[in-house]
Formats: sequence, C-alpha cells, structure tokens
Amino acid sequence: MRSELRIAICRINHEANSFATTEVNLPDFEKAGGIRMGEEVLSAKGRTNEIPGFLNVIGGAAQNIEVVPLLDTSSLAGGNLAAEAVHYFEETLRRKLREAGELDGICFALHGANTSAQISDVDGYLLEVVRQEKGEAVPVAVALDCHAVITQKMVDLASVICGYHTTPHIDIVQTGERTAHILLRMLAGEINPVMSWESIPMIVTPPDDGMNSGPLKEVFDHAARFREIDGVVDCSLFPSNPWLDIPEQGWTVLAVTNDDKQLGDRLVQEIANHIWELRSSFLPEPMLPPAEAVRAAASAPGHPIIVTDLADNTGAGAPGDTTTLLRALLDQKDTIDGLIPFHLPDAEAVEAIMPTDVGTTVTLAVGGKRDTRFGQPVSVTGEVLCVTDGALEDTGGFGGVPTVDAGKMVCLGIDNVRLVLTERIVFCPEPSLFRKVGIEPLKAKIVGLKKELAFAAHFLGFKPTDDRVTNTVFKADCPGASCYDLRRFEYTRVPRPLYPLDPDMQWQAGK
Ligand SMILES: [Zn+2]
Repeated sequence: MRSELRIAICRINHEANSFATTEVNLPDFEKAGGIRMGEEVLSAKGRTNEIPGFLNVIGGAAQNIEVVPLLDTSSLAGGNLAAEAVHYFEETLRRKLREAGELDGICFALHGANTSAQISDVDGYLLEVVRQEKGEAVPVAVALDCHAVITQKMVDLASVICGYHTTPHIDIVQTGERTAHILLRMLAGEINPVMSWESIPMIVTPPDDGMNSGPLKEVFDHAARFREIDGVVDCSLFPSNPWLDIPEQGWTVLAVTNDDKQLGDRLVQEIANHIWELRSSFLPEPMLPPAEAVRAAASAPGHPIIVTDLADNTGAGAPGDTTTLLRALLDQKDTIDGLIPFHLPDAEAVEAIMPTDVGTTVTLAVGGKRDTRFGQPVSVTGEVLCVTDGALEDTGGFGGVPTVDAGKMVCLGIDNVRLVLTERIVFCPEPSLFRKVGIEPLKAKIVGLKKELAFAAHFLGFKPTDDRVTNTVFKADCPGASCYDLRRFEYTRVPRPLYPLDPDMQWQAGK
C-alpha cells in the first residue's frame, strides 16, 4: 500500500563566527558525530536534535507517512564554513533530493547563522538548492536555532520558519516536533501559513541566565502570549548571533499566522518595539580584567571558584585556545592555595608528548595556535602527569551530547596548575574532562573555564540564579572571537546604524 504522504527530513547545522580564524570543514562534521545519510538518519535514538522531533510527529506506521531521510549532520560552532564543505553539502543535498523522487513536504533543520567566506547566508543558499530541485510548490518547513540571522531569502524560500523558544536550548526536539506538526496541518489543508517578520537593527550577547529571567524572558514571554491568539500558528524570536559580520545582521521577530498577514504584521511590530525599548538592558555588565578576576577568585572563600573567559567560548564559535586567562593563572599560581585545573585544545602539543613521557618534565609552547588573532602561544614547563584518550562521560550540560570525544589527552603539572591539553576542541569542559586525567575539579581551588555563566554554574551543580554564583564565578575580560563588548570588533559588513555600535540611533518597527 502506498503511503498517503512522502515527507523528507534533513538537518545541516553549523553556527559560524566571523571573528574566528578557524574555517570549519568536513572532518569537523565527522568528528562532531558524523555525516549521516539515508537510513542512518532514521536511527535517531539517543540524539536530542530536531530529527527525533520530526520523527516523533511524522514517524510511526500508524501515520501512513513515508519518511524519506536525506542527510543529518552538525559541527561544533566555529569560523566560516569552508567552500569545500558548502560544495559537498550542496551536491549531496541535490543528489538526495533527486533520489527522493516526488515529495509532499520537507522538514529541514538548519542553524540560521551559517556563513562561508563567499556566502553570507549558507542556510538560505541550501534552501535555494531545495527549491531548484523540488520547485516552488512543495511545502518546506524550516526549524532554526534562535541565534539565527533571518534573511529575506530564508523567508522567501521557506513555507514556515520555527525557532527554539529557549536559551540555553533545551527545546530542540520540541522545535522539530512543532515544525513537523505545522507541516502536517498545512498538508491536511487545515492552515495556510503566512509569515510576518520584523528585523530589529540591534545585536546582543547572550545574557547570563539565557531567557530564564531578565529582559530576554520578558520578550520571549511576550511571544509566548501571542502564540495563544486565535489565528497565530507560531511566533519565534531570533536574537541573532552577534559575532557575525554580515549584511543581514540583526534581531528578528517572526510570526506565522493562518492566512492573516495583517495580524502577523501587527504582532511582530509590537514585540519588536518592546525589544527595542529594552535595548540598553541587554548590554553586558562590565567584567574584571583577567589578573583582577584571578586575584578575586584566589581570595574568595571556599572552593572551587571559577574564573571564566567568555571571549574564547567554543560554543560561540571561538577557537578555544587563547592563552590570556592561562597567563593570568600562571602569573598568580604561587598565591593560590590549591590546584588550578585549566583546559586548552592543542593537537600539536598533545602530539609532541608521548605516553612514554609520563613522569618526565617537558617544555613546550601551548595554545594560541588555532586563534592567531587574539592570542599567542605560551611557553610552559611541566611534568607529564597523565596521557590518555577515549570518549568522556558527559552529562551534556544543556547541549544534549551524551558523550564527547576529546581525542588524545595530556595533563601537565606546572606547580599547582593542572593544564589539560586535548587533541580536539570540546563544547563544554564538564567535570568529566578533568576526571578523565585523574583530577577532581570540585576539590580544586580555581577552575579556569571558557563558558557563559549559566554553563559555569552548571559545572558547579548550581542554577545560574543561585546566590552562590556571585561569589564563586568571576568573569575575566579577555580578548577573543566571542568577546561580549561588541564595540571592540571591527564590523565592516553589518548594516549601520546598528545598536549598540551606534548607541544613539533611533528606530521604530514598521517605519
Ligand atoms: Zn543558539
């Protein structure tokens, strides 16, 4: 019996950072979980991305839907997508779409902040490929990260766009479900989705507590109230990825209505004006210079105290190997009473140290190799305490990655500093990374991290709103590709004026 509907599912996810010097290419996708094709896409067990979300809605024999799997892949955030990878994904997508034959609909998960040196909107480019292969008529429901930069091309080519409603992102599966559900309603003729969107000339860095409190919660709640209105199919906010220097940069409010453009336009303008009114409350608090942050941590009571460098956050696409915070920790190590674990990805240094070196003293330059713009390598002399490798048990933080493969790992003891070098970058050093080389980080005095406050709190087992965070997490103001003071970057391609680069600018939605 032929299925009633044939629906293709696809996911190509990369988040770029224009200020990172590391291009992301196909091996980075291989290391981050592989490039799944065809039937492999359907074995979504244990994964927590949009694909299981799509399958929860359109999978299962009872639905009488034939799910046509195309491609599923993602990388860790990084610099631009390499031209070779763009070409590969384009060609693979074309081939898979041709092999798929006639389709009734497509569920497509993209990040929305994927750029290459040549193409500022790779996600829109891939949607163009879908339209070239399958025409204008087939409905394409698109799920995006809320850090997407929404472009005219995406809105023109997608039938509907749905974004995550949480940050940190804990509703990725649900976003896949919502997207697929809207597609099904569309195919059943229940709704005729129409998109309204308003781009706001403003960029913000992620607040400490995501959208769980403060101004981001206020405006996300505003969108949630609108989703309850009759005739509104969905409403998403896209606070954008601020570290993208592209012509389409800016926040977006996007509503999907059931054939009621006027209603959608009114709602997105109302939220956009609300966001604009709150603009100054999104600005980050000033941070401490690195030496001061380390001093404050050293004199804070109890342990472990975290000093975190948000400007070199791999989760935001930064290379993760700048050495500013390491230097500050090494400079003050003699004044710190206890161990100081710190992690750097450095394949070259790991390669230089052999398993037979355990117990020996080595001198080598570490870090500052992936990031050549914001840091230099630092020369260290230390004892090789441990050489190991293999997958790490990782509770996933908010990312839902059950295990992490950091490749080969080395622990160097530099007096009381425990420098953990890994072959690969990791999204979020969890305590498991340090435990793998025999260090209990929760017993250390200071742990150096490169994560947002919410993740640093999670490392300690706290909620970001816990009062204890104030005295246990210190943010160091370091240079880096994910620096929170956006005015320090040389943006050359973003539309101007743009808040807060142009702090005195005026703006109103719909004008
Ligand atoms: Zn995001």
